[in-house]
Amino acid sequence: MDCYACRNNARFDELPPRERIAADDSWRVVHDFNSALPGWLVLLPRRHVTAIAELTDAEAATLGRWQVRLSRALHEVTGCAKTYVLQLAEAEGFAHVHFHIVPRMPDQPADRRGPAVFGYLDPENALPDAERDELALAVRAALAH
Ligand SMILES: [Zn+2]
Repeated sequence: MDCYACRNNARFDELPPRERIAADDSWRVVHDFNSALPGWLVLLPRRHVTAIAELTDAEAATLGRWQVRLSRALHEVTGCAKTYVLQLAEAEGFAHVHFHIVPRMPDQPADRRGPAVFGYLDPENALPDAERDELALAVRAALAH
């Protein structure tokens, strides 16, 4: 099975901050690797699941708390006006359920709001690893209080 999320889940202990911002028994939080928008987070289950309906009650119990806590952390770190939460899991190799937790900045252009926010997922302009690690550590610190 070629699953990007599972390949990284399998080497959990070796992951850099950008791929392991925070985690519990059910979920791992990462900074999106393709994003040109600082603070684009992804929340994904620690096991291979391809539909939300396959999540266990235990996984579901912490899902909402993660979405809200990560949104609060993004407000603090990025100064966003609100966050978007999106789950599609349609790209090839990315069927593993993953929730995008995306900062919507106060000055975000109209052509990058709503579903058009996916325009920020742009491999050519993705943030460098060092910047994603820095954001990851800032989000981690914000989650701690
Ligand atoms: Zn997977």
